[in-house]
Amino acid sequence: MEDQRAAYRAFMEAHVYPNEASLAREDDDAAALVADLRARAKAEGLWAPHLPPEAGGTGEGFLAYAHLNEEIGRCVWGQLVFNCQAPDAGNGEILHMFGTDDQKERFLAPLVAGDTRSFFSMTEPEVSGADPTGLRTTATQDGDEWVIDGHKWFSSGAEDAGFGIVMAVTDPDAEPHSRTSQILVPADTPGIEVEPVPVMGHRGRGWSTHCDVRYTNVRVPFSNLLGGRGSGFRIAQKRLGPGRIHHVMRWLGQMQRAFELMCTRALEREAFGSTLAEKQTVQNWIADSAADIQACRLLTLDAAHKIDEGDEARVEISLVKFFAARALSEVIDRAIQVHGGLGLTDRTPLAAMWAMARGGRIYDGPDEVHRMVVSRRILRAFADGEGWQFS
Ligand SMILES: Cc1cc2nc3c(=O)[nH]c(=O)nc-3n(C[C@H](O)[C@H](O)[C@H](O)COP(=O)(O)OP(=O)(O)OC[C@H]3O[C@@H](n4cnc5c(N)ncnc54)[C@H](O)[C@@H]3O)c2cc1C
Repeated sequence: MEDQRAAYRAFMEAHVYPNEASLAREDDDAAALVADLRARAKAEGLWAPHLPPEAGGTGEGFLAYAHLNEEIGRCVWGQLVFNCQAPDAGNGEILHMFGTDDQKERFLAPLVAGDTRSFFSMTEPEVSGADPTGLRTTATQDGDEWVIDGHKWFSSGAEDAGFGIVMAVTDPDAEPHSRTSQILVPADTPGIEVEPVPVMGHRGRGWSTHCDVRYTNVRVPFSNLLGGRGSGFRIAQKRLGPGRIHHVMRWLGQMQRAFELMCTRALEREAFGSTLAEKQTVQNWIADSAADIQACRLLTLDAAHKIDEGDEARVEISLVKFFAARALSEVIDRAIQVHGGLGLTDRTPLAAMWAMARGGRIYDGPDEVHRMVVSRRILRAFADGEGWQFS
């Protein structure tokens, strides 16, 4: 594992950090550079580390992946270079778990090979994304086809993707958690309109977009149903659990990078007759950040370990998701403050990191919902007379 981690670190140092500014331009040259770096990473066996070898990846479980992400997550482009980017990583996992042989051949194989990208289309502008029992997009069976109609947004990466996984109501009269199904939809199917929605002033390009997607009379074969009919929520839970912890693992990398920049700057910069490192406020920020980062690391490693042991780790995942999302914003924010005006420019990665970090408190479930999940489960355990064991 340490060898693997060192290999990812070396690749990041040799090929990703030096190209960070070029990649951030998101123009044609950047797209060509991404393709070149992906080919190089694949050739070196640094590829799809979230998936096991039987699914075409190089993964060795969640715990090992957590450590790799302390390297990969340090730069936003790392995940794309090593083909473990959201939302493709989560989509690949559910295709591996629930896909038929035919679906694996048509959708999973090109995804793992890096020949296509995908999106996950669940959230809708008109109803609460935090409570997706209210979803309105429908998929109606017509002979051997599904006919999909509806309006989604925040379908990340939908621009220029090859296919999407759409969560739609197939059984409106069933109980709320059995109303929806997940359906594989090739992006070139007639009736799909994709429009990127700028987020925090950033339109993005291709993978980095968050898109409004309209589905009007979109017809796909009935066999594109992923998993069983009515199992949309069950699959979403399987997808979002690991997906959430993948985000947190990358945030560990982001926080550590911000922390290093903060400490380095504090030692270099002088004001009022001493370095910033000698001001107690700055020392407090460094100490608080070290505590935040280590707490997030240990919570993440604990959840990853439990998942590897076959536990769903629902409490552990929700706990670290809301705790780390806040810590991420705060650590980056302190690092920016230590850099003064420089921290707001694009001469350090901090400003872009900070803007992206804000979304972490909302996507894959807002903080408040994760707190609700944690407290509900703990209170239920107390109500059942078991109490809560920290283990
Ligand atoms: C950068 C980014 C990328 C995303 N990518 C995708 C994607 O690829 N695919 C996809 O389908 N979706 C995606 N999303 C959507 C995301 O999952 C939703 O935004 C999220 O689930 C919240 O839904 P909502 O925006 O409708 O907020 P709402 O459901 O309207 O909630 C608004 C606020 O209400 C509060 N709230 C809600 N419930 C409770 C509660 N029980 N207790 C207390 N307060 C509560 C919270 O503060 C919450 O932020 C993305 C979002 C972002 C920001």
